[in-house]
This record gives sequence, structure tokens and C-alpha cells, in this order.
Amino acid sequence: MEYFPIPVAKLIEEFSKLPGIGKKTAQRLAFHVLDMNNEDATNLAKSIVYAKKNIKYCSICSNLTDKDPCIICSSQRRKRDVICVIEDPRDMVAMERTKEFNGLYHVLHGSISPMEGVGPEDIKIKELLHRIQKEPVEEVILATNSTIEGEATAMYISKLLKPMGIKVTRIAYGLPVGGDLEYADEVTLSKALEGRREI
Ligand SMILES: [Zn+2]
Repeated sequence: MEYFPIPVAKLIEEFSKLPGIGKKTAQRLAFHVLDMNNEDATNLAKSIVYAKKNIKYCSICSNLTDKDPCIICSSQRRKRDVICVIEDPRDMVAMERTKEFNGLYHVLHGSISPMEGVGPEDIKIKELLHRIQKEPVEEVILATNSTIEGEATAMYISKLLKPMGIKVTRIAYGLPVGGDLEYADEVTLSKALEGRREI
């Protein structure tokens, strides 16, 4: 790093903070940006600032949104008594692609992982409970990933919700074990949703 002028070293350092970006890739990206014309480089920087400034969590479902409540929570066409619980905003995109689900979502932003020091209080479980106390929810579909963490999270939430008299279901993972929801194709995901079982 010491061989680079400070502005270049800084750029490399920032790129290397991104997930999956090692030092070599960070250097390649930094030099790519320096090769870009001014307009493209400025647009890249601006779009980061613009997204950070305008995207927030929906106050109801915690999905990323530029309007609060988000378009799904404020839609009149969605069923309001079914909530599908997912780990990541990208899982919602996967679920919407199936066109099989017409309820609301709740985004946890992670899963319980003692190994990584992520406890129930670190993801949006409290917000889910608040929601259920306020809204006439009949069924909660747990669509967390089929990883150890995803399963543990589903079990944890199920134990909290069942005493509240809510039907709790888990999507039927014909999905590969360890698989992330966002990578499942529409057909697999539709089947998983259709075959959900009460837990
Ligand atoms: Zn929302």
C-alpha cells in the first residue's frame, strides 16, 4: 500500500471492505475507477450517496424502501393476515418472482448465529412481535434459509409465536439443504411455499 499515492491507497482500502473483495481485487477495482471518465466515476460515487440517503427500513416490515411504509405494506391488494418471514431483502425478490404469495413480509436482516455472535436481539424479531400484537395476523410463514442458522431462527420464532395462538408454518425445503432462498428458482420456491407445514 505504501507504494501508492494516498488517494489511491484510500480507494483500495475502501474497496477491500466490501464482501468477497480481497486485496488484489480491491487494487484492480481502484485502478479501474481511476481509468473511468469523470462522468462515470462521479455517477458511481453519487449513486452510493443517493442510495444511502434515500433507502431506509420500512417501519412495518423492515424491508429496504425509499417510501415508508413500503409499496407492499401500503398495497390494498395484499392479504394482511399472512406474514412471510425472510432473512434478507433479496429473499423477497425471489418470493415475489413466484407470484404465489400475496401476503406481507417481514425482513429479519440476518439469522441467529451464536458462532458469529448474532443473537435474537440483533435481528428484527422484536419488530415482528410488535407487529403481530397490533395486526390481525393468522399465519406466519417462516421462510428463513435451510442453513443451520436459518433453521435455528425458525425454531426460535416458532416458540415465541405459538403461545400467541398464531398458526406457524415452515416452507417445505425441497430446496438443497444449506441453500439460500434467494438462489432458488421460481418453481422450487412455489413448491416450497405450497408444501409448507405447520410447526
Ligand atoms: Zn413494508
